[in-house]
Amino acid sequence: MSNPSLLILPGDGIGPEVMAEVRRVIDWFGDKRGLKFDVSEDLVGGSAYDAHGTPLTDETMAKAQEVDAVLLGAVGGPKYDVLDFSVKPERGLLRLRKEMDLYANLRPAQCFDALADFSSLKKDVVAGLDIVIVRELTSGIYFGEPRGIIEEGNERVGINTQRYTESEIDRVARSAFELAMRRGKKLCSMEKANVMESGILWREVVTEVGKEYPEVELSHMYADAGAMQLCRWPKQFDVIVTDNLFGDLLSDAAAMLTGSLGMLPSASLGAPMANGRPKALYEPVHGSAPDIAGQGKANPIACILSFAMALRYSFDKGDEATRLEQAIENVLAKGYRTADLLGEEGKQPVSTSEMGTAILEALDESL
Ligand code: NAD
Repeated sequence: MSNPSLLILPGDGIGPEVMAEVRRVIDWFGDKRGLKFDVSEDLVGGSAYDAHGTPLTDETMAKAQEVDAVLLGAVGGPKYDVLDFSVKPERGLLRLRKEMDLYANLRPAQCFDALADFSSLKKDVVAGLDIVIVRELTSGIYFGEPRGIIEEGNERVGINTQRYTESEIDRVARSAFELAMRRGKKLCSMEKANVMESGILWREVVTEVGKEYPEVELSHMYADAGAMQLCRWPKQFDVIVTDNLFGDLLSDAAAMLTGSLGMLPSASLGAPMANGRPKALYEPVHGSAPDIAGQGKANPIACILSFAMALRYSFDKGDEATRLEQAIENVLAKGYRTADLLGEEGKQPVSTSEMGTAILEALDESL
């Protein structure tokens, strides 16, 4: 049987720096755990524009459609701000998401014990937190028609439309139930069925899909109450599923419960492919951080955790994903900190590659 395939798109700014550490982790799993991947690497964003005059070539797009998973660093940078909208670095990422039809965006909020003091919430509220928000990514109010700014009488009116078809709700609900089955078997669906028809339909369809997952404990919550509960006692949740707009807000709020942008991974999943695995793009939540690019200061953990998500969700290697997450936990517990994780004065941060080396050493210790 051939090895699973992985397309790596480092992108711009700190993207290549953090991805270099991921490559070392991938090699470690190949050498020490016999987990070999067919890895190919290509350009996206500003680097693709520099080489080809487009932020994503058709060839790279075709490759992304064929592989088992895509791992992306970050795109963008001030150098490209002057470009026409159609060739801006972000267009490369948007094209990938659109053409791969990645409708389920998974954003974990996981609090490593060693960083619990970093949260704006009390330590006992966030220590050990491990939840995932599944946000619908390709429909809803950001895409619904009609939209625009129109003249009405003697003033202008801004219009956006929240629109969801049953099949759009059904497929993202399925992704969330599948995820809950692999985790704590608890799913909370959030909408505003009290004031929105799309919310009523959302609740009905999620409930219907839930009948196929009797092991999963399904609950429903209005999204505003959900926001309150996320801040009050986030550990009551396991998986949350919600629409594009509420998911945008709730996943950002939940992510920040746990501290730094340099720690946050994400996955965007689409329909199952012929081999049963979902189409998948894994990437850190952070951008290309031009302010620290090229200085060896970037925290590679968000990107490495994105690879851990790939191990779990694309390659059915949940045990190896846990090994990697545990190695990161151990490194943090030993006090290793990149600059973004340093609260106290006077402590010396480790560099991007030193953090990578420490994680490899912790992986060695796990054997
Ligand atoms: P950013 O996420 O790049 O940076 C925000 C702040 O967080 C900066 O101070 C940065 O130094 C810090 N930071 C981010 N990641 C870090 C890491 N791994 N380690 C340590 N510190 C880290 O957001 P921004 O500054 O608003 O955007 C910069 C560029 O990135 C822009 O061109 C933007 O369009 C692009 N961007 C891309 C993506 C993506 O590729 N998915 C996402 C967001 C922004």
